[in-house]
Amino acid sequence: MLKDEKAVVVFSGGQDSTTCLFWAKQTFKEVIAVTFDYGQRHDAEIDVAKEIAAHLNVPHHILNMGLLNQLAPNALTRTDIAIEEREGEPPSTFVEGRNLLFLSFAAILGKQYDARHIVTGVCETDFSGYPDCRDSFVKSLNVTLNLSMDHEFVIHTPLMWLNKKETWALADQLGAFEYVRENTLTCYNGVKGSGCGECPACKLRQNGLDQYVEQKGGDV
Ligand code: ZN
Repeated sequence: MLKDEKAVVVFSGGQDSTTCLFWAKQTFKEVIAVTFDYGQRHDAEIDVAKEIAAHLNVPHHILNMGLLNQLAPNALTRTDIAIEEREGEPPSTFVEGRNLLFLSFAAILGKQYDARHIVTGVCETDFSGYPDCRDSFVKSLNVTLNLSMDHEFVIHTPLMWLNKKETWALADQLGAFEYVRENTLTCYNGVKGSGCGECPACKLRQNGLDQYVEQKGGDV
């Protein structure tokens, strides 16, 4: 029974991982959040993650992953690299190996807590060419983690097959629609809630929200 078990949630303070945090709280007995600090453009991201974890009463670990930025400079961490989308290749916000590393570290942390469940908000539906968001990658890594630590981890990906509209619907089902809308940070320009409205992350989030509100009858 999942209700008797513990889970570690990979948590950034954004819409997706906050929805996953609510999902995990409803699904498991005990939940631990882990946030990775890899020199994101905005320290605001870490602060938002701290606020949400504290508000939801979830123990929160912040792990320093500055190494990632050293290895793979990208537009999320470097202000001298523009955020752009290029036809046929991953956008400049792609961080090579990010989910490989994050999920591996989350599993190591989980084992210390005797937690075998790991929850991540990766999603193949709005797949913008990030290979380590694919379901096949997650399943493959799950096997590797189990072999590497002789443990029976289960990686959960509640958003894997949802589009943004459906992710808003899930937040609503979990009673977290307003909370996610107002308190999370998805925007590449570091603006909480509805964001700057201009960057690719804001546009994706807003499109999904508009579609969901329209489906509900425009009354949100
Ligand atoms: Zn934005």
